[in-house]
Amino acid sequence: MRLLVVEDEVRLAAALKRGLQAEGFTVDVAHDGVSGLHKAREGAHDGGYAAIVLDIMLPGLSGYRVCERLRAEGNWVPVLMLSAKDGEYDEADGLDVGADDYLTKPFSYVVLVARLRALLRRGAPPRPAVLAAGDLSLDPAKHQVVRGETEIELTPREFSL
Ligand code: CA
Repeated sequence: MRLLVVEDEVRLAAALKRGLQAEGFTVDVAHDGVSGLHKAREGAHDGGYAAIVLDIMLPGLSGYRVCERLRAEGNWVPVLMLSAKDGEYDEADGLDVGADDYLTKPFSYVVLVARLRALLRRGAPPRPAVLAAGDLSLDPAKHQVVRGETEIELTPREFSL
């Protein structure tokens, strides 16, 4: 099983790679958001990653944006987000952009592996269904609300309501 680790802290990325390889995974590493997104896209053509461990605070493109873009492209690879920040706000944001799970640094390696295995057992989530009521439809994946032929502009906060 192939995993992608996107983490700019080089030592942490190397430690994760070593540890996950010892668990029997094949591990690719990216050290910034742009190359992480690139690898994730390439991986999708190439059999696919079983899961992505995605740091939030990354140079170039944040983990939030990487996850958001993958989801917008219809890539539903399971994503475990990592953040140094603690707090419900971050978690809500992470889950909002389509992450499947969330871990706050510093985390225990054992917990990381357990969470990853749980994600892998679940597999890629089915794309959320478009909800429709009359001529109004809401697409949770695209964060889009459409009435008839017209898209209704909503902020992410409004959307989460
Ligand atoms: Ca970071």
